[in-house]
Amino acid sequence: MQDQIKTTCPYCGVGCGIIAAPQPDGSTSIKGDPEHPANFGALCSKGSALGETLDLEGRLLAPQINGVASDWDNALNVVADTFNKTIAEHGPDSVAFYVSGQILTEDYYVANKLMKGFIGSANIDTNSRLCMASSVAGHRRAFGSDTVPGIYEDLELADVLVLVGSNLAWCHPVLYQRIVAAKNKRPEMKIVLIDPRRTMTADIADLHLAIAPDADVELFNGLFSHLFQHGAIDHDYINNYTNDFTDALDSARELDSEAVAQRTGLSLSELDVFYSLWAGTEKVVTLFSQGVNQSHSGTDKVNAIINCHLATGRIGKPGAGPFSITGQPNAMGGREVGGLANMLAAHMELENPHHRDVVQRFWGSPKIANKPGLKAVDMFDAVADGRIKAIWIMATNPVATMPDASAVENALKACPFVVVSDIMSHTDTTRHADVKLPSLGWGEKDGTVTNSERRISRQRAFLPAASSAKADWWQMAEVAKRMGFSSGFNFANAAAVFREYAAQTAFENNGTRDLDIGAYANISDKEYSQLSAFQWPQAKGQITEKIDKRFFAEGGFYTSDGKANFVAIHAPKQVAKTAEYPFTLNTGRTRDQWHTMTRTAKSPRLSSHIGEPFVEINGADAAALNIQNADIVRVYNARGSIIVRGLITERVKAGQVFVPMHFTDQISANARVDQLVAPLTDPISGQPALKSSTVMVERFPAR
Ligand code: SF4
Repeated sequence: MQDQIKTTCPYCGVGCGIIAAPQPDGSTSIKGDPEHPANFGALCSKGSALGETLDLEGRLLAPQINGVASDWDNALNVVADTFNKTIAEHGPDSVAFYVSGQILTEDYYVANKLMKGFIGSANIDTNSRLCMASSVAGHRRAFGSDTVPGIYEDLELADVLVLVGSNLAWCHPVLYQRIVAAKNKRPEMKIVLIDPRRTMTADIADLHLAIAPDADVELFNGLFSHLFQHGAIDHDYINNYTNDFTDALDSARELDSEAVAQRTGLSLSELDVFYSLWAGTEKVVTLFSQGVNQSHSGTDKVNAIINCHLATGRIGKPGAGPFSITGQPNAMGGREVGGLANMLAAHMELENPHHRDVVQRFWGSPKIANKPGLKAVDMFDAVADGRIKAIWIMATNPVATMPDASAVENALKACPFVVVSDIMSHTDTTRHADVKLPSLGWGEKDGTVTNSERRISRQRAFLPAASSAKADWWQMAEVAKRMGFSSGFNFANAAAVFREYAAQTAFENNGTRDLDIGAYANISDKEYSQLSAFQWPQAKGQITEKIDKRFFAEGGFYTSDGKANFVAIHAPKQVAKTAEYPFTLNTGRTRDQWHTMTRTAKSPRLSSHIGEPFVEINGADAAALNIQNADIVRVYNARGSIIVRGLITERVKAGQVFVPMHFTDQISANARVDQLVAPLTDPISGQPALKSSTVMVERFPAR
């Protein structure tokens, strides 16, 4: 091993570059990579504590079959044989893969190839469905492709930066630090936060609009209407580069300003301040995250935002555009290789026969799935009702994180065959595995990830594998070969997988996709090992590290006529509260923990920030319920109940509560909040609504 290895943080979608240096005493020193264009040397608390999470405590070190240690050969044969038997008896749609935005692009690529091109089903979905599927669907409706138009620098260049449903200060801290620095340099830059909860991000905001939950469509339709009324529309852009403006405007004008104020819970003067600021500023970026995506109207919210940018031509220009930020380190990489049940690699579409033909010819595969597979929530429903009889779960913990989590747990208990690939031996999900396969952890594995600005960076190994742990792509390829797919899976290493993927981005596709990194198809293993971070697209046939390309300032959309689509958006029906369950439950991250804490809980430093589960409740509600600060309370509905500490705060409004997503039964008994979340999904993206279930709160035990 070299002394200092350049790699990429495995946590959030900012995708910070890291320099890791293994020390003689077995520890690893971690610092930010000053040359990485995402972070220029900065790291947040989670990234800088990575060295404290690399020990072997709790790691899965050998394959297990029914809880008994096995060798790889035996375990892989059992997986391959059981999948083959299940497919022979019940057909290809009786099996499924549920993967993760934590795995590397190379892992994702092989998993997709196996399921869609060789097994012949599209039953592969990912926990990224819980993260950014609504943004993908919104981009595709408007642009004809899942293309993020801007780059991080736009957030610094904007004169007005609008953050919608994004607690950037805690969830994307290094990007937040970049914005703080930009605002310090240019105090005239205005920041608007739109969030029902007064998060830490409000500290930097000039204006915080504490919008009612799930009222973003009404807010942005109101903005669209205001832009038209006040002559802030760019008619040239609309005429030259878009379709369906009039229909979208008509739907935006269905609510008058009083109705918008009533639905959003904002005053007319708050709306006027926001709308005037947006309308009167050319350089506007509207950044959105989980508060937009994790909703039953998430895709419509995304398009309501994009409509405003299309109407003003403020897209793809320095400091102007809509900007989706992903939660996970490789949600974007997964999208690039078709990691969702309705996508194919290189941003091609499963339902497009030409794209299917292109991909099948490229893979030389015996068959290719010809209809979209089951999205995450539907996939676990199919496990529950017996349609899926064998599932392979990789690098994710659905028993803790899916909506209606207890139902997911019961489904896995009853499923005839469950395989889990993970770095940890005991998670809420591994306890239901028939076969457990040990995966390489961060610092052991090799591959690439793509961050939220389309920048591809290397994750590099700087530690030896933990005992017999293996790469996720290798596990999939070995099972494929044992299933009888003799060609297509003979990858010597991660570099070979990357080369094939890069070649696919340039292979006779429909000629309109800009995800072209085909020039990397011939890089050597040595060049791959030395690869610097770069963005797609690349100029055809060339390798260029410095791109900073934006999309769509002058049209060039990936629709059949090259024009963007305005989408007519109507105000959605809201989730109704009842007397029995009068609180809206918001869920989300805390600053120093990651997902279900399998890694971050190892760091005492990180746990000293917030070490136990809690519910935030407004003072007026707490008084009415006879709850005092730090009391133990029960949060419940018909699906289940959790017991956590009650924190009284004005950060949440009356009628709303907030519970962090991280604490599972493995960490803290009775704190698994996603068991309370209804399995309600966006009808277009299939993304679950993780922020709008209804619950009741009471002191526990009652006084
Ligand atoms: Fe890692 Fe995100 Fe923190 Fe950067 S901001 S160090 S990518 S967790």
